[in-house]
Amino acid sequence: MRRKLAAGNWKMNGTGAALGALEAIAAAHPAPSVDILICPPATLLSRAAHALADSAVDLGGQDCHAETSGAHTGDISAAMLADAGARAVILGHSERRADHAETDAQVCAKTRAALEAGLMAVVCIGETLEQREAGQTLDVVCGQLAASLPDGIDGARVVVAYEPVWAIGTGKVPTLEQIAEVHDALRGQLLGRFGAETGSAIRLLYGGSVKPGNAAEIFAVSNVDGALVGGASLNAADFSPIIRAL
Ligand code: 13P
Repeated sequence: MRRKLAAGNWKMNGTGAALGALEAIAAAHPAPSVDILICPPATLLSRAAHALADSAVDLGGQDCHAETSGAHTGDISAAMLADAGARAVILGHSERRADHAETDAQVCAKTRAALEAGLMAVVCIGETLEQREAGQTLDVVCGQLAASLPDGIDGARVVVAYEPVWAIGTGKVPTLEQIAEVHDALRGQLLGRFGAETGSAIRLLYGGSVKPGNAAEIFAVSNVDGALVGGASLNAADFSPIIRAL
């Protein structure tokens, strides 16, 4: 059985003052029955790791470079994230694909680097509104999935997050049928490519406007193993009920 995962993506939010929110989330879930991962800005990782040392909350980065070190000003390697206290890293988020023109091939190389550094990779895929309206959703997400994951992966350390671009930060959420259609297709593709053991071990998260009010119904959808939460992961009042709904 796949263990459920509640993951928070803080994006470019939070300075030292936000450590209190992290501590509040951790304090509310001393012995959770699900995995909890929070990905604050990289600048907070070391302090967050110190603050959460004895907690059940894991920390992650929001991106890494595909190389381990070198002349890449401003970039951070997977090993550096691990050294700062991260156990995981989000890769290929649609905001990075849009803001930094990240390609599937780059996401694939970053995923390989993250796994080599011992991190769990949370690989994001998702269609734009234009693509959904053109009936291309399954082609787009299955194509992204195929090209963003390297061969020979450990399924327990790979998580795929389906995040429709049009649902991120908008309050719009696909219907439960639309979520099920995509997640079932992704699971089928993973089983076909990696075989039963690895293909069934990879967790599939839904992301995009997950809130306390819609989490439970989304978590009941087939092949939804948790959520990647943006805005509602920034404070315990919103994130705790989402974690409890899993
Ligand atoms: P929101 O939950 O704010 O819509 O963001 C989702 C997201 O992009 C998580 O990675």
